[in-house]
Amino acid sequence: MNQIHTHSEPSASNNPIITFGWSETWSQTLADHFPLRNPSLNQIGRVISAHRTQWTLITLKGVVHASIAGHFHELDNTERPVVGDWVICNEIQSDSTVIDAIIPRTNLLKRVAPGKHDSDQAVAANVDRVFIVGGLDEDHEPRRLRRYVALVKGCDAEPIVVLNKSDLGTDTETQINELHGIDAPIHCVSVEQQTGLDQLAPYLSPGSTIALLGSSGVGKSTLINALTKSEQRETGAIRSDDSKGRHTTTSRELISHCSGAIIMDTPGMRELALSSDASDLDSSFSDLTALTTECRFNDCSHQGEPGCAVQAAIDQGIISQDHFADYQKLEREQIVNTER
Ligand code: GDP
Ligand code: ZN
Repeated sequence: MNQIHTHSEPSASNNPIITFGWSETWSQTLADHFPLRNPSLNQIGRVISAHRTQWTLITLKGVVHASIAGHFHELDNTERPVVGDWVICNEIQSDSTVIDAIIPRTNLLKRVAPGKHDSDQAVAANVDRVFIVGGLDEDHEPRRLRRYVALVKGCDAEPIVVLNKSDLGTDTETQINELHGIDAPIHCVSVEQQTGLDQLAPYLSPGSTIALLGSSGVGKSTLINALTKSEQRETGAIRSDDSKGRHTTTSRELISHCSGAIIMDTPGMRELALSSDASDLDSSFSDLTALTTECRFNDCSHQGEPGCAVQAAIDQGIISQDHFADYQKLEREQIVNTER
């Protein structure tokens, strides 16, 4: 049947906000939360980079720089726009766009501000999945990966462990075994040799936002380059004119992928000590948390109480003393954070 289009809806391929993840669900959230204002899509943007006083947005008109409305200055930094946020602007103009409101986020990744142990710093918003990248070379750090999984789960994002440099791994099986009990898929790849990367394709679903997290040197940049090398990097070209007509280039921290996914490369995410008050111990120590429910006492500290299922499992060699020590360490940090 022939269908006649009387008017053309912008298609995903040429609509910058759809390319960067705008969806029916976001339209609905917008309608639900701003029923009176009824903002038009011409006023919507997604933050692709955030600096102290300047935000860069992708909008229907392409990339624009923006400032924030005065009322934001009275708010905590976690309530100001961060990379990944969808925002409403007064009007989008190349040099006087002002962000007026943030569309309610699906989640917010935070970290403990460096040097300041009493305040959290917002790092990124609306992140669906996080590739937690580790190295199968001598940089294999199971303890850190476990911690990241708990933190990502605690932020309501989906963790995926990507063990890179499989070309250098000497005993991959043992390295994977060291991650037992982790509640996240684990994939071994070699970005450099282009092996195993197809395992990541299912996670790059259209409209989903994916961030990368991991220690320095594990291959995050290499992975981003491999994922995006033939991509439409020009989408929403980052070159734009500032108010004085100069060309400016801005670091872009959101990249659209041909799969339809949006890849987030935010320096703040990279090595962060994510704020651990939100961490979810269960997801990275599911074996231990299951055991604790079998201890005789509800408040068992697993330090030698009678009927302790954890000690019994250690005695029987079912779980290792080291694994238990890691669990206790993360548990202690979580208590400290909760008491803060
Ligand atoms: P980042 O700090 O996590 O962004 O790490 P980079 O992407 O800068 O990579 C660090 C180093 O690891 C670079 O020298 C890469 O060439 C190298 N590298 C990345 N992936 C692989 C891999 O699969 N195998 C090997 N042998 N080296 C890799
Ligand atoms: Zn116990």
